[in-house]
Amino acid sequence: MKGALLLAEGLAKAYPLRGGLFARRSQILAVNGVSVSLNKGETLGLVGESGCGKSTLGRLLLGLEKPDAGCVTFDNEVMPSSKAAAWRRLRARMQLVYQDPLGALDARLSVAEQVGEPLVIHGIGGPAKRKARVLALLALVGLSEQHGARLPHELSGGQRQRVVLARALATSPDLLVCDEPISALDVSIQAQVINLFMDIQQKFGVAMIFISHDLRAIRQISQRIAVMYLGRIVEEGITDDILHAPLHPYTRALVSAVPEVRKPRARRTILAGDPPNPADRPDGCEFHPRCPVAMSTCSNLKPLLLGSGSRGRKVACHLAAANASQPLGAH
Ligand code: SF4
Repeated sequence: MKGALLLAEGLAKAYPLRGGLFARRSQILAVNGVSVSLNKGETLGLVGESGCGKSTLGRLLLGLEKPDAGCVTFDNEVMPSSKAAAWRRLRARMQLVYQDPLGALDARLSVAEQVGEPLVIHGIGGPAKRKARVLALLALVGLSEQHGARLPHELSGGQRQRVVLARALATSPDLLVCDEPISALDVSIQAQVINLFMDIQQKFGVAMIFISHDLRAIRQISQRIAVMYLGRIVEEGITDDILHAPLHPYTRALVSAVPEVRKPRARRTILAGDPPNPADRPDGCEFHPRCPVAMSTCSNLKPLLLGSGSRGRKVACHLAAANASQPLGAH
């Protein structure tokens, strides 16, 4: 029976700001009061524009960074400090798949050595068992023993990302946090790598947080989607519900930009301007300067992320109830 593997409540993380135009504000609030949950074997897609706090949230969920506020629970235990031995043990059960496979791999070590590294770190198996496990992991991600003998720069970008995935799977984790795992790949390779992630998920039932700015990728792999804007989750729900009836105006804009999802006569919603500087947030709803349906109240009253209907849907918008009855692209 499935149950919650990961729970996060009220996470907040700020970084000091040194110098610059907004120096007097002194900090950037990268994550602002985020609560999420992930069931065993589930994939949650985390989508939003660059700089919205997705990667910071991923690191907070893994305990790689300490939140300023809030709490993360993994398998019913409060996440230990990353300096504690308990966290290092837990690390075998939760792994990060990096955005840049070349940067994530050591240029001087062979692929096989790097795939086997977590086994050595966590003291899993002896040399013979580790070697067999490395070969099995390489095969799992579509690579051969010959690939294992090479250095990272001797592989293609797609093959390197397969190596990163094989290494992340070495300890049979329960959770993968995948931070933009396809954004550095050619478009022609992205679909193959997404399919590989889906195969792995189905085969091993590993839970995933799949972070991407690309809703096309997210929708393929995720059972649920959380949409982030300026450090907050503004909409959350089952993937089909979000894609076919987005309630938040920001989600509507993201969905309308995906051609295959857009209905034939639906217009694309073009958002005005760029996301505001996180160090200089608008009052009220932080989306209001770009929102095509903003009302006067939106500039001074912050909407809460509230349940909307059934199936676990949540939306942070004063107009959420009205939007629920409007067709996609109506604005
Ligand atoms: Fe737009 Fe207002 Fe909803 Fe914010 S609360 S998304 S500004 S309608």
